[in-house]
Amino acid sequence: MASLHSHIETILWTKDEISCRVTELASEISTDFGAADSPVLVGVATGAFIFLADLVRNIQLPISVDFVRAESYGCGTLSSGVPKLSLDLKVDVKGKHVILVEDIVDTGNTLSCLIAYLESKGASSVSVCALLDKPTRRKVHFQLVGEGKFYRGFECPDYFVVGYGMDFAELYRNLPYVGVLKPECYK
Ligand code: 5GP
Ligand code: MG
Ligand code: MG
Repeated sequence: MASLHSHIETILWTKDEISCRVTELASEISTDFGAADSPVLVGVATGAFIFLADLVRNIQLPISVDFVRAESYGCGTLSSGVPKLSLDLKVDVKGKHVILVEDIVDTGNTLSCLIAYLESKGASSVSVCALLDKPTRRKVHFQLVGEGKFYRGFECPDYFVVGYGMDFAELYRNLPYVGVLKPECYK
């Protein structure tokens, strides 16, 4: 197929729709945290990289930014669904308010593992900011820490989506919108 965009069957959220929602989320965060207790934003690599980049540039606070990576294999059996940390924090989160930034919450396994990890590192609160949420797919109910809040961009129908940081087989992250691939592209 010739162009990147010709691989997409449906666009669920356009570049402008995402941009508006990201600005709203950033203002909410800017209002909820004061400059004295400004948060550490921890992006979950790789999928959150574009969302994180757009989000932080709209936050009006002196925040820190870091990344973690969680692989969904490991920690024993394949069916356990327990992710393994494969990139650790650089910033010390002890006594800090942390906002975990995710592209999409699906089963909830990744987030519940990462929240527990941040709590064990002494974060005084853990919030989650996810661009997309697929609540119908949830298997694990994740528990926020302290006064932590769930910031959610959009509720996503049960499709496998790509773009705006999200991949299929490491491709399509560079699409400026979120969409669904044509069935032949999943092969
Ligand atoms: P979990 O099931 O642990 O909540 O989600 C783990 C990760 O799977 C998400 O952070 C995301 O990176 C990936 N994921 C879940 N649903 C989708 C989807 O529809 N599209 C893409 N590209 N990745 C997804
Ligand atoms: Mg992710
Ligand atoms: Mg992926």
